[in-house]
Amino acid sequence: MLIRIVPIGKVEEGVLSSVKEGLESALGIRCRLGQAVDLPVEAYNRWRRQFDAEKVIDRICSAVGVIDRDLPVLGITGEDIYYDGLNFVFGLEDPAGFCLVSIARLRPEFYGERPNFDRLVQRSVKEALHEIGHYLGLSHCRSPECVMSFSACVEDIDRKKTEFCSNCRVRMATKGINI
Ligand SMILES: [Zn+2]
Ligand SMILES: [Zn+2]
Repeated sequence: MLIRIVPIGKVEEGVLSSVKEGLESALGIRCRLGQAVDLPVEAYNRWRRQFDAEKVIDRICSAVGVIDRDLPVLGITGEDIYYDGLNFVFGLEDPAGFCLVSIARLRPEFYGERPNFDRLVQRSVKEALHEIGHYLGLSHCRSPECVMSFSACVEDIDRKKTEFCSNCRVRMATKGINI
């Protein structure tokens, strides 16, 4: 498996390469940084000032073309995204093999704190791993330290480890995926 990382709109180069490295060491697989894709204007909701995550994923699908199950695509955007009835989401996964992570609410400055590059990257890698876990067939995990536990806020993300718990690993192994 190889993961294609695609920046959606403007995302700092440093964040992208650090997330790539973080994912590679957590998963033990290669990731490739792809060409940036523009954010679709039709996905912007100007009342909410957020992008519709599903429409953004549609845009990634059409920009990336035919999807290979062994080549999942991870879109990373700096914009705030929402989905369905939720106020916001940190990320979303489409069963076709497209994962999307928004780093907008992973930045400490979103909460009035000082910018912290390492914390931003750490949170981004965790949320990317979480969506990739869904792509690999995992559901939410009840262990709060597992990267597959659901995060409602950044504090939840900070509490998680950058890894799958042993139960989740076993679940993946039964599907033939060894990480
Ligand atoms: Zn989830
Ligand atoms: Zn778990």
